Order: sequence, then structure tokens, then C-alpha cells
Amino acid sequence: MKLWDISGHSEHYAENMFQFDLDKEKFGLKPMNCPGHCLIFDSDVRSWRDLPLRFADFGVLHRNEFSGALSGLTRVRRFQQDDAHIFCALEQVSAEIKSALAFLSFIYDQFGFTFELNLSTRPEGYLGSLEDWNAAEAALEGALNASGFAWKLNPGDGAFYGPKIDITINDALRRPFQCATIQLDFQLPIRFNLMYSAEDGTRKRPVIIHRAILGSIERFIAILTENFAGKW
Ligand code: ZN
Repeated sequence: MKLWDISGHSEHYAENMFQFDLDKEKFGLKPMNCPGHCLIFDSDVRSWRDLPLRFADFGVLHRNEFSGALSGLTRVRRFQQDDAHIFCALEQVSAEIKSALAFLSFIYDQFGFTFELNLSTRPEGYLGSLEDWNAAEAALEGALNASGFAWKLNPGDGAFYGPKIDITINDALRRPFQCATIQLDFQLPIRFNLMYSAEDGTRKRPVIIHRAILGSIERFIAILTENFAGKW
């Protein structure tokens, strides 16, 4: 639980975590990959030459959903995501987002899904400085414009730790599903005190981009099954 104390999950996410005691210590099953990736980033001295540093992980996740919320394959308590975390400098965000959008488009094309993009911006009760938020929102907006895809603004609906691009796909019955997500995060690098040495010799904090294309694999299989009426 020490890890989840640092990441803030024990404070903000405890009711969704499976916890148990072992040898008089408290343990919590991993509900998200991000904190583990922060430890990997921090396991070595990092410089600007290492960035962007991209980690991908299909690790097993457990979330203690209420039994009433469980539904077929769309909401389960044990699942895997095509989860990635990109550690980069603020000035690299735009290019990384642009390539994530191109990757997303490539993958969804394979399944014949169309998608819609929304930029969710600073909510009330946000964490961090206004300056960082403005820079991050400008970077996401720039990347969305450069991507050539149409997108909409969703003011005030960002995560408390950073703005995000919400991606909705439509299945054969035109029903919308949210699978992919691209989120900027300033808070985890602060909580884990992540640093790299910049080109000018100063120590700087990286930004994290959370990126999942399929989202939960189980959920994506459910959507595919519905979309193709089970005709594999
Ligand atoms: Zn994450």
C-alpha cells in the first residue's frame, strides 16, 4: 500500500481496490499501471536524451466494482488494457499526441470503426498551475488541429490532474462507446518526484501521457462481438 499512498490511490481510489493483509503489512492489488511505470522511470538517472520514454503494459488489473455494476465482458473485476505511459518534456507533448492519434486511427480502421474526438479542458478544483494547464491545453489543441481529424471542445470536463482527449467509437448500431483515452498528467510526476536533466543542465519534471487505444481488452471484445453480431 506504500506505493498506492504515494500515487494517491489509497486516498482517491481505495473503495475500488482489493486489499489484504500479509505478514502484518497491507497490500493492494494493482488497479492501474501508471504508478508502476513511474517506478520504472525512476529506477535510473534520466536525461533529455532518453525522452520521450514510452512504456507499454498489458498487465493484469483488478478493480473492485460493485456487483450491480458488473456486466458481461463490458465491466469485469479482472481485466487487461493496452496501456502505455509516455514520459516526455512539455515541448514534446504535441508530437507524441499526434502520433498517438495516428496510431489510434490505424487500429480502429482495421475494425471499421469510426470515432469522435473531444478535448476536455480544465475543471473546477483542478490541481497544478494555471500556466501548466494553459500550455497543456494549447499542446493538445495544436495536436488535434495538426491531426486533420474533426474534434469538439468539452469545456471543464478534464481530469483534475490534466486535460484529456476523449475518444468515442460507434458500433454497427451507431451506439457510442468510450474505449481509447489520451490524458496529460502533471500530478503523478510531482507525487513520485520524477526528474530528468535537461539540455541546459537544469533538472526538469517530465509530463506523463496516459494512452490506451483498445482500452479494456475484455470490453473491446464485447463491442466487437456486438458489432459483428458474433460472426467471427
Ligand atoms: Zn495511466
